Amino acid sequence: MTLEDITTNIKVCKNCRLYEAAKNPVPGEGNPKAAIAFVGEAPGATEDATGRPFVGRAGKLLEAGLKKIGYAREDVWIGNVIKHRPPENRDPLPDEIKACEKYLALQLNTISPKLVVTLGRFAMNYFYPDGKITRDRGHLVQTKGFNIYPIYHPAAALRNGNMMETFKKDFVRIPNVLNEIINKKDETTSQSTDGQLGLEI
Ligand code: SF4
Repeated sequence: MTLEDITTNIKVCKNCRLYEAAKNPVPGEGNPKAAIAFVGEAPGATEDATGRPFVGRAGKLLEAGLKKIGYAREDVWIGNVIKHRPPENRDPLPDEIKACEKYLALQLNTISPKLVVTLGRFAMNYFYPDGKITRDRGHLVQTKGFNIYPIYHPAAALRNGNMMETFKKDFVRIPNVLNEIINKKDETTSQSTDGQLGLEI
């Protein structure tokens, strides 16, 4: 299945109630062979209006962070766990998460990024439900076949000066974290022919 096939399925999906109030699905976008994928919670109002992820104020901060570390938006993949905006930005309900989470798994399995940067608590908990964002942010974890680097959500950073400082500090470390993964993989590959990342969620 290609990323386009997954997008097509998301666009016609009615597996939970969230499509009813949303203006557009927001499947995610970016480089289909990205080394880095950024994953947030769910679309906000601007994303809902445009059908594109992270295009509001939080998106501008994400883009500024990317520029700082030498990447353009097109170099990476950007998406959310939930593909339709929950009404009034409420938290997605458990049955909605259950209905939607397979799409992100399919997308990440297709892209096979070396590093997944999760933005905020919700996206981190998708990969490891027991994680605590204040404790675990800025620490690389291998789980469910992916290298996960959780950081604060840019929208949270925009609301809180201390979180903004931490967000920036964690963000500029992304290239080092990626190098760490690549170097570790080189070591593993030289010891074993099975250098592939596991891909199951
Ligand atoms: S939020 Fe996800 S599961 Fe629910 S309708 Fe949209 S794509 Fe389907």
